[in-house]
Amino acid sequence: GEPFVKTYHIAALPGDGIGPECLDATMPVLDAVQSCCGISLKINRHEAGAEHYRKHGVAIPDEVLKDCLDADAVLLAAIGLPDVRKPDGTEVQPDMMMGLRRALGLYAAVRPVKLYPGVPSPLNTAGAGIDMVILRENLEGLFASFGGGCILNDHVATDTIVITREGTERVVDYAFQLSQRRKGRPIDGKRRVTCVDKANVFRSFAFFRKVFFDIAHRYPDIEADATYVDAMSLYMVTSPSDWDVLVMENQFGDILSDLGAAIVGGLGMAPSAEIGDNHALFQPSHGTAPQLTGKNVANPIATILSASMMLDWLGTRYDDADAISAGAAIESAVAGLLKDGHLRTADQGGNTSTSAISDAVTDAIHRNA
Ligand code: ATP
Ligand code: MG
Repeated sequence: GEPFVKTYHIAALPGDGIGPECLDATMPVLDAVQSCCGISLKINRHEAGAEHYRKHGVAIPDEVLKDCLDADAVLLAAIGLPDVRKPDGTEVQPDMMMGLRRALGLYAAVRPVKLYPGVPSPLNTAGAGIDMVILRENLEGLFASFGGGCILNDHVATDTIVITREGTERVVDYAFQLSQRRKGRPIDGKRRVTCVDKANVFRSFAFFRKVFFDIAHRYPDIEADATYVDAMSLYMVTSPSDWDVLVMENQFGDILSDLGAAIVGGLGMAPSAEIGDNHALFQPSHGTAPQLTGKNVANPIATILSASMMLDWLGTRYDDADAISAGAAIESAVAGLLKDGHLRTADQGGNTSTSAISDAVTDAIHRNA
């Protein structure tokens, strides 16, 4: 009989600034893989973010949050606008993202740092290829005190870092599992997971490293090592080809993943995933770039590659080879376009529009099918 085809339910949040154009550029790509790869998607598009907050006083309406909880995956473009503030003066975006992360239990943030052939890197050490993944603990660490930091008086303010065994174990375990199944180039023929911390100075990080090695014992085939975050930020510049999977505390991951984006072509090229046990959210690493909004010049590749990661995750989760191939088809269409080098958006030194990149990726998927 007919093979069973699962229809994946996707909650899509276009958000603010260049978010809607980047999502609009991604939709035809998802249509293309639905017609070429035998997958089926039901995509619900919802308004949420800073503009929604400005109009309605709430960043993420309850029914949108409910659809995100019901969905198989969330695809988010970009949210936040610097001029839309809450009554306490803070931006809408951190609050909304932290709310979503906590509601969906997204404890692992995944940032591939991969230099595609044809993309210029600012590093002259990049010739050997860069293909690592940064895993950022996404719910605790320095962000545990999110909203609870304290300005004691006009001279002193504090925030508290919290490292728990459970929180560390689950992200480290995810790092080893990701290392086992990822296709990226192994280092010296072996998979490797590196703990990045500041264990020489802080008890909390010494504990993070201890828990890391406790988990590492379960994966004897994978090399496990540790390095300090300051040294790692140097190595990412001087020897970026030497790393496979890096796992680290929340704030360190926030910082090193922007460094990672910079060495592989910038924020417009950098996709990301946030993963939990029952939910996952996919979004470009960049923000809303308000000055580019509505001009059809933003680079949509980070969003398109985030959709590729989404299909790969769905395929892995539901043991669905078609969804895995759909994710791979998107990535190879993007890689082909980048290698060819004729079409580049402004951030990559060219003048190709957002929609022209979308058309080219879509055509390539049909051609390659
Ligand atoms: P956020 O606080 O939301 O992270 P940000 O102030 O860090 O926002 P981003 O929107 O992330 O700013 O981007 C910083 C700059 O990088 C932008 O102003 C823009 O020049 C460039 N940029 C980011 N994303 C893209 C993109 N997709 N295409 C082209 N340029 C981009
Ligand atoms: Mg930013």
